[in-house]
Amino acid sequence: MLTFKEFFSSGDIVNLTEQVVYDELKAFIERQEVEFCQCDKCLFDIACVVLNAVPSLYSSSDVDRKYPNADFSMEYEHLQRLVKEELPKSIALVKSRLHH
Ligand SMILES: [Zn+2]
Repeated sequence: MLTFKEFFSSGDIVNLTEQVVYDELKAFIERQEVEFCQCDKCLFDIACVVLNAVPSLYSSSDVDRKYPNADFSMEYEHLQRLVKEELPKSIALVKSRLHH
């Protein structure tokens, strides 16, 4: 069996929530609606707070990801909505307790 690091860095097992959080965070920053520190440390903290607040969506199938069925698409869209809701709350939280 692969080592822990090989297992999860193989790219075959993916938590799609991470991609959603990254994409939504990037879009949020681009909209420039809220001022907050955007150093790596703060962005990592924000991503962790969001990731802890929303469910994971793991996938081990590249085919499922490229050609999602209706259930999968629904779950993905639901996740996007949750992340969009959580993001401003997480930014406010990290902003209120800067530790860098
Ligand atoms: Zn910062």
